[in-house]
Amino acid sequence: MKALVKTASGYDQMALQDIASPQIREGFVKARVAYSGICGTDIHTFKGEYGNTYPVVLGHEFSGTIAEVGANVTHLKVGDKITSETTFSICGECEFCQSKNYNLCGSRKGIGTVVNGSMAEEVLLRAESVHLLTENISLKSAALTEPLACCVHAVLEKTNTTNKDVVLVIGPGPIGNLVAQVAKSQGAYVILAGITNDIKRLDLAKKFGINRTVDVLTEDLKQVVMDATNGHGVDKTFDCSGSIKGVNQGLNLMKKLGDFVQVGLFTTPLVELDTNVIIQKELNYIGCRSQKPSSWVTAIGLMDKKQIFTEELITAEVDLEHWREGIDLVIKGSEMKVLIKSK
Ligand SMILES: [Zn+2]
Ligand SMILES: [Zn+2]
Repeated sequence: MKALVKTASGYDQMALQDIASPQIREGFVKARVAYSGICGTDIHTFKGEYGNTYPVVLGHEFSGTIAEVGANVTHLKVGDKITSETTFSICGECEFCQSKNYNLCGSRKGIGTVVNGSMAEEVLLRAESVHLLTENISLKSAALTEPLACCVHAVLEKTNTTNKDVVLVIGPGPIGNLVAQVAKSQGAYVILAGITNDIKRLDLAKKFGINRTVDVLTEDLKQVVMDATNGHGVDKTFDCSGSIKGVNQGLNLMKKLGDFVQVGLFTTPLVELDTNVIIQKELNYIGCRSQKPSSWVTAIGLMDKKQIFTEELITAEVDLEHWREGIDLVIKGSEMKVLIKSK
């Protein structure tokens, strides 16, 4: 089968190869892949900035159809339309596995980074990780379930956003957009901040009903926040930019006792954070890492009830043979979400 393989460490080192179709085994299913999203992680991998195992097939946000079912799998059958969590294997014994926080298991292996992922014609999946799509969820939009689950984890599991909250989201890329939409789905008043380069992305968010979008280079974000909160500051901030300048500005626009959730990764682990404002306002500065099984159930529920715009985020699509064009489009930053079609 055709598969997009990261063959070695370093820049590029990626190729479309003909590799053996995965072997079915007990507790696993094989899926024919429909669509895979290209994610920021894949770009880091392309550039050689991410520690993968080599060789590995990329792709960890996807949809497909079950093609083969292994022994002892009872809840899935051939032809089912599905998406899947990225967990391929876990230790099953540590305290994080016991509480289904698989994202924190030290022995966890994920598809598309450590074991072969979905940018191929077929992919092998741990049956327990697989989720059935409802009739309301298209294969195309289902390729966004993984990023949506990450956003559900941030907005509803790492903190609890409600209709009483005024929320600030920094960074209007695919993750910032979905974070803003999840907060909106709970009835929160949502302010989404970006820069002039993001203007198309801010406009798109406005179409999705995000209450207020702000270009921080031409508008005074502080004024917007204070006007929306009677001068108290926002209840919750989600940084989806990984920009330390944005983070420190966001911390200073928060209400006392607020929750600040760090979703975006910084380019370097040690940054100059305004710790004084965290202390003086008794803010909760919260780390957030990918997603866990419960996040998927909520994400699929939101998509099923059409509470989140997903297909509208997909602005470009390439087939496997043209994977390089897809990568280039994401690097250029002019598209919102780019999908690779497997067949
Ligand atoms: Zn991703
Ligand atoms: Zn574990």
